[in-house]
Amino acid sequence: MRVVAALGGNALLQRGEKPGASIQRHHVDDAVAQLALLARDNELIVTHGNGPQVGLLAVESANDLELAQPYPLDVIGAQTQGMIGYWLLQAFTNALPDRPVVALVTQTLVSGDDPAFERPTKFVGVGFEEVEARRLAETGRWTIAPDGDRWRRVVASPDPVAIVESSTIQALANDGAIVICAGGGGIPVRRSVDGHLSGVEAVIDKDLATALIARDFLADVMLILTDVPGIFCDYGTPEQRVIRLATAKELRAMTFSAGSMGPKVEAACRFVEATGQRAVIGMLDDAQGLLAGTSGTTVVLDAQARP
Ligand code: ADP
Ligand code: MG
Repeated sequence: MRVVAALGGNALLQRGEKPGASIQRHHVDDAVAQLALLARDNELIVTHGNGPQVGLLAVESANDLELAQPYPLDVIGAQTQGMIGYWLLQAFTNALPDRPVVALVTQTLVSGDDPAFERPTKFVGVGFEEVEARRLAETGRWTIAPDGDRWRRVVASPDPVAIVESSTIQALANDGAIVICAGGGGIPVRRSVDGHLSGVEAVIDKDLATALIARDFLADVMLILTDVPGIFCDYGTPEQRVIRLATAKELRAMTFSAGSMGPKVEAACRFVEATGQRAVIGMLDDAQGLLAGTSGTTVVLDAQARP
């Protein structure tokens, strides 16, 4: 089968953990132990998040007195793709020494007139006291907004339109390589009328970018690997329970939290609607169960086509 799997942010760093290198390597090894099971009999493309890592590097850059201007977000996105891509590359190579593996710096095209640029809403990085947040906003040229009792940077999160390296990714995966790509949803870039690419100050949702990759690759299944056993209905109430099987249409009639499950559901629906194949959302720790359809939430086009 052709499998595209998105690794959630907590596959690298669990909530509340300090973002040091060794703890992240450790989590990457655990994640790759699961992913290697999928890779054995399948073509595999892996994408991953980069939220906490981007937040950390952005603060470091804003505080760096050597710099006249902090590094822009596209550059920081590329840095995190290199770092996390390297960890994954090495872990896969250690787990499957005979399999070619590649980590690809990936650009994702966005539209310059995406309405997201007028209203930055996506939080990046940790929260600060208001005074400190305002200082960083000044030096780093950030937009900030309150998040509970802390202040955080907010950036635009435009809709991914296309993956620039799509055909290269497919060629490598068709050739048997495990391809690690589109980290953090890809580096946001814009294309001018004469075809020239340039970086954009934004972040892209990794699940929505993954849906584009899975669609282009004509994947048999898209897996969204996270830290919950699936999509819950009545989430956060005593009645919450995992939806085992749903059509894209059924899910579109429901609402999910914008910052977490919402984009996963949207990504699953887009992939399923574009291809008629299935998407599965669930626990990273049970990646094989998700692939087999025995756990997680399976999203299909119509319920007749049950796997
Ligand atoms: P990732 O880092 O894997 O992208 P997110 O934190 O973005 O993970 O999204 C997963 C989280 O979504 C879960 O840990 C859970 O707290 C939250 N969540 C919100 N709504 C739901 C829902 N309806 N069903 C399951 N989880 C939900
Ligand atoms: Mg997320």
